[in-house]
Amino acid sequence: MITVAAAERLINDHTLELESELVSLVHAGGRVLKETIRADRDFPPFNRVTMDGIAINFDHWKQGGADFLIQGTQAAGSPPLKIDSSNCAVEVMTGAVLPEGADTIIPYEVIEISGESNRRATLQVVPKKGQNVHMQGTDRLEGATIIKPWTILGAPEIGVAATVGKSTLKVVKPPLVAIIATGDELVAVDQTPLPHQIRSSNAATLADALHRWKIEPDLFHIVDDLNGTTDKLAGLLEKYHILILSGGVSMGKFDYVPQALEQLQVTRHFHKIRQRPGKPFWFGSHKSGTVVFAFPGNPVSSFMCFNRYLKPWLSKLFKLHKPPLMAQLTEDLHFEPDLTYFAQVKVELDQGSILAQPVVGHGSGDLANLVDADGFLELPGGKNHFSKGELYPLYSYRNLRS
Ligand code: AMP
Ligand code: MG
Repeated sequence: MITVAAAERLINDHTLELESELVSLVHAGGRVLKETIRADRDFPPFNRVTMDGIAINFDHWKQGGADFLIQGTQAAGSPPLKIDSSNCAVEVMTGAVLPEGADTIIPYEVIEISGESNRRATLQVVPKKGQNVHMQGTDRLEGATIIKPWTILGAPEIGVAATVGKSTLKVVKPPLVAIIATGDELVAVDQTPLPHQIRSSNAATLADALHRWKIEPDLFHIVDDLNGTTDKLAGLLEKYHILILSGGVSMGKFDYVPQALEQLQVTRHFHKIRQRPGKPFWFGSHKSGTVVFAFPGNPVSSFMCFNRYLKPWLSKLFKLHKPPLMAQLTEDLHFEPDLTYFAQVKVELDQGSILAQPVVGHGSGDLANLVDADGFLELPGGKNHFSKGELYPLYSYRNLRS
């Protein structure tokens, strides 16, 4: 049996090269960018008017002129007009190009317009040279990198990509993943179990958790039979980059998964970790490159193993990995066995601190307790008393909120 840290190292020794694919801009949200997005023009691409009003030449005002003759109107989307002489102004709308000869915008709110045919504008405030103009190239210059590869694409990135004319984007192609639930007692979600059966929940939980990386796993079920397990896994090892199994890795008479995987020459890197829950976790890799995560079947165990091991590993593949946040225990906690204990906790934010309140359930089969909690707090082996106020790594499965 190995430690949590050793298991993590062995898992991190294995990696996958993720391929790329092109997706349309409208479907790129949440994907991970695999190219550099550069400014195709200056940002903004011209001296942009930022208020509705009049465009003037500041020097005219400086020389004592508060009145301007309005010589025309320029909407957003029109080529720039030219101010004929310094006492003239052009009415301009937000988003218009600054007219030639003008350098300053006076908003309608602080001018008075008089006259019918020879309309004049009188300034009622002291302007500042250059006000209300967003000068060409002040945000980014043409050719500048705006979004780097391995950025997760959110609404701001999509907007920038649209601005530079990218209607398709090169993004990371998610790996092919199979989730295999094992167990004679399992029936499909849409079936009515007999009294001695249960619906398979792990596959659904794990599939949902993988959506964060836009992975669309294929789901399988195999019964507890060595030959059937071996036959099924042989095919899956050829086709998928990652196999995630649930169940069949413990000491039970019908736990055939380790044996089947070893018959198929999947190299075992470890079996069993000094932890609770999730002790029987089995991890290996195949010469085809496929990486195999075989989690124990108890729903809390498999979900904990997913959050503690598979999720950080996937985040590394997508270069999105961040070390876990540290959360503060809100009460003393005692755990006797010399194992790393992953306590289920409810998380609250309190003026910048993350508070972790233990939510004790009824063991690793109690999947309803996962609903009441937000994550797992990693309490190390080698001690059995954990005091209120101490900080421990948090593996949260929810977005932290205030
Ligand atoms: P195992 O690891 O196969 O010994 O299973 C441990 C416990 O987890 C048993 O009570 C199983 O019925 C349960 N279990 C196994 N697989 C699943 C699954 N896919 N969904 C829900 N519970 C499961
Ligand atoms: Mg089983």
